[in-house]
Amino acid sequence: MTSTLEITDVPVAGYERVVRGVDPSSGLRAFIAVHDTTLGPALGGLRMWPYASEEDALFDVKRLARGMTFKSAVAQTGLGGGKSVIIGDPAVVKSEALYLSMGRFIDALGGKYITAEDVNTSVADLEVLRRATKHVSGLEQGDGGSGNPSPYTAYGVFLGVRAALGWVFGNDSCKGRTVAIQGTGAVGSALARRLAAAGAKVYGADRNQQRLQQLHREIGLVPAGEAEIMTMKCDVFAPCALGAILHDETIPKLNTPIIAGAANNLLLEPRHGQALADRNILYAPDYVINAGGIVNVSVEFHSGGYDEKVALAKIERIPQALKELWTIAKEDRIPPSVAADRLAERILAEARGKKKAAAAAQPSRRGG
Ligand code: NAD
Repeated sequence: MTSTLEITDVPVAGYERVVRGVDPSSGLRAFIAVHDTTLGPALGGLRMWPYASEEDALFDVKRLARGMTFKSAVAQTGLGGGKSVIIGDPAVVKSEALYLSMGRFIDALGGKYITAEDVNTSVADLEVLRRATKHVSGLEQGDGGSGNPSPYTAYGVFLGVRAALGWVFGNDSCKGRTVAIQGTGAVGSALARRLAAAGAKVYGADRNQQRLQQLHREIGLVPAGEAEIMTMKCDVFAPCALGAILHDETIPKLNTPIIAGAANNLLLEPRHGQALADRNILYAPDYVINAGGIVNVSVEFHSGGYDEKVALAKIERIPQALKELWTIAKEDRIPPSVAADRLAERILAEARGKKKAAAAAQPSRRGG
């Protein structure tokens, strides 16, 4: 089939490149945002979502790409930040032709952007993309890839929950602690299993009742209602479903000393980090505690051959990173979310400075 893929640049201040790809032959309508490649190629997942408009999709891809730059900077993955989105309802638009078209779109950026799985894109979908571009990571472990990142994200979140318990209660044991998990999908269910095995009493809410019942049978998870999970008294609230759930309406109703979960962009606005601090709720900045998946993928990318031991050792640094941020937050009287952003910006500024100095030194070397 002849490709009818059309790529146009969308100039956006503060982003290295944002492109729109449309292919009528496959029904593709997508955006790729390359936010920053100072630290390495821009790696970030491919999301498929029924956005109401192209403006909404563009807003999301920009926000997510920037988030990836910050996440990778703090997690020291040696990668930059990018993201891609396909507009459409997966139940309607998902097809092999669509992913092949998306693969060609990604390939046109020549490796500046590397894709991975995200909401509504599975490892199997990545295998289709791989036929059109080599700039794909997170392939099956049997194929030399790092596989599904979710269990690794869950491992990092579990370690982060323990670090938060230690920080607040002076003891990081999960025994007898109550944890309320919002969303028991790929990450939430793996987190629930780890917490239950460590002796925690786990509550869970999910739109998918079957998932809850399965976890109830398997590990004794106590199913809770969607509204109840955010307001119930617990030791840890672990949001593992949607972003933007912490805002003026929800924060006053929280009944927990700790928020530590996997979902991205939890704060509706940056000021909500301060609102949590004002209520004396310890917040584990989302992109720091949920970096296990990207750390896992980065090992595949850099080593050219995935090594789980290397990945796990890197993920095990997450508690230390969190403790450092909580220390800075306490000393500087700023919310941990601001401490994380400042750390990421400092890492990026230093790397940009070094690059600039290296570039400035180059002509004189050639001349001499
Ligand atoms: P998933 O789609 O497998 O699971 C999300 C679950 O949340 C689903 O079971 C869904 O039914 C449930 N849900 C949706 N709305 C809900 C609501 N209002 N109340 C309760 N449950 C609700 O996704 P996932 O891969 O487990 O990721 C979870 C979150 O973590 C997402 O925000 C994702 O962006 C983030 N995250 C995931 C990874 C990863 O490795 N998968 C890495 C970093 C961040």
